Amino acid sequence: MTKYIVVSGGVISGIGKGVIASSTGALLKSLGLRVTAIKIDPYLNIDAGLMSPLDHGEVFVLNDGGEVDLDLGNYERFLDVQLSRINNITTGKIYSEVIEKERRGDYLGKTVQVVPHITDAIQNWVERVAAMPIDDSGEQPDVCIVELGGTVGDIESAPFVEAMRQFQFRVGHDNFCLIHVSLVPVVGSVGEQKTKPTQMSVRDLRGAGLTPDLIACRSSKPLDENVQRKISMFCHVAPEQVLAVHDVASVYHVPLLMHEKGALEFFRKRLNLDALTISKEQRLAGEALWKDWSKLAVSHDRLLDTVTIALVGKYTDLHDSYISVYKALEHASLACNRKLTIKWIEATDLEDGVLKSNPIKFHESWQALCSADGVLVPGGFGNRGIEGMILAAKWARENKIPYLGICLGMQIAVIEFARHVCGMPEANSAELDPDTKTPVIVYMPEISKTHLGATMRLGLRPTLFQPGTESSLVRKLYDNKVEIDERYRHRYEVNLDHVALFEEKGLKFVGRDDTGERMEIAELDDHPFFIGCQYHPEYLTRPLRAHPVFKGLLLAASRQLDQI
Ligand code: GLN
Repeated sequence: MTKYIVVSGGVISGIGKGVIASSTGALLKSLGLRVTAIKIDPYLNIDAGLMSPLDHGEVFVLNDGGEVDLDLGNYERFLDVQLSRINNITTGKIYSEVIEKERRGDYLGKTVQVVPHITDAIQNWVERVAAMPIDDSGEQPDVCIVELGGTVGDIESAPFVEAMRQFQFRVGHDNFCLIHVSLVPVVGSVGEQKTKPTQMSVRDLRGAGLTPDLIACRSSKPLDENVQRKISMFCHVAPEQVLAVHDVASVYHVPLLMHEKGALEFFRKRLNLDALTISKEQRLAGEALWKDWSKLAVSHDRLLDTVTIALVGKYTDLHDSYISVYKALEHASLACNRKLTIKWIEATDLEDGVLKSNPIKFHESWQALCSADGVLVPGGFGNRGIEGMILAAKWARENKIPYLGICLGMQIAVIEFARHVCGMPEANSAELDPDTKTPVIVYMPEISKTHLGATMRLGLRPTLFQPGTESSLVRKLYDNKVEIDERYRHRYEVNLDHVALFEEKGLKFVGRDDTGERMEIAELDDHPFFIGCQYHPEYLTRPLRAHPVFKGLLLAASRQLDQI
């Protein structure tokens, strides 16, 4: 029987519920348990595909092409698993399933209602995920973490809270526990840690019929013992059920902190984990993983030499828009023994127009770009900031600064190369200028022209290194493999008509799809590191296994690539 750990939130959102949920998973993996995760997003969108990164952060893409909430990325990285679109439940998905059944006549004349039909559909969905094999072993997960988005008391999340209330009885006491993540703010000049918001949110939770097994209290400084006692007393839980999780140096410390505070012991007893069968190999693998994890947390704090990457994008006001790129850079910097500094540059600020309207911003942005050890142009949509990105790519190409262009960033590198090396001054992408006379980036023929939702080229696909590319730097970074699998999310591609000219001038398309006609990796000759990839390598990075392309960028930026 799968054990379920529901993670709910109180007081406000954005206090690290996802990190606590994924750290709980990491903690349980140290016992050798197989862990999966579900993120519940109580919005009506079917998936995150059409949500603005500036409102909601990055859209994460899974192997099966699911466009999901960025928390799924957290789970994949922390738990080292590969999830599928059903691991992200939204109100939209649940309602459309129920409405489809209603139209089919499955409810046999009944009135279809939130309770029981929506709440049943939610519970069935959760059980379906827990029954799915977690990896190639074909085994089901031992533990399923269910993160409830939003905060308890929201109108949107009410059906999900009710579903979980019922679910605790469906699966039984030994198989269900709940972590409620709350905030303990500091107010006033004396710096007192206030418990009232936590008390009130626990009251809301209890009012909805759920009891917290652990109250994870987020605070900036370690929680005062008196405050901890007070929370235990007034939230009606034992002192050991108050888990104080203060801000730490990095997210990698959170599982360690939770362990230190006795969370693992708590789960062992509360969920009777010792009754689960765990093979010796699994147990040893769990122990080894925990050791590596602990080392990683410490080494992250001890890095001295820095490496600076300029991230030139169009959603830089919200760093969560690039969370996976950020994590991929962080993992790679750890693998290269460098402390990472990111200069967030809004691409439009590099453009000539800003020189007139805001000269300080313009010069600061160029200063940041010119002083960086490497340049990264990530994915994006629409034409704002495009000219700024092209200028950044030109700077990197001409000054032999390491450059990585991801998806849109690769298309930018191609446009820049066409304009400034191949004598095509008008070159552009059909996405950015639909009337362009020289489209070097074109719409892919198979993509829908009428529907935007889930219609891109999405998910895991093979890329083949072309014959004669044995000396390619990217290929070497991938251990000389001939075929690699990466995740995609795009509608436009390099125009095949110009590929021969680009290659002749030195921009080689070393990786292509299985037809050989879709350009997936571009690599510039005679440059220390100038790479474009149509796929998104950031979706497959792991803390203990940095992605080879990002590792290459960081090695090049910290001048270690030659030595490797
Ligand atoms: N807008 C570009 C396309 O659709 C790039 C997409 C991306 O960067 N994810 O092809």
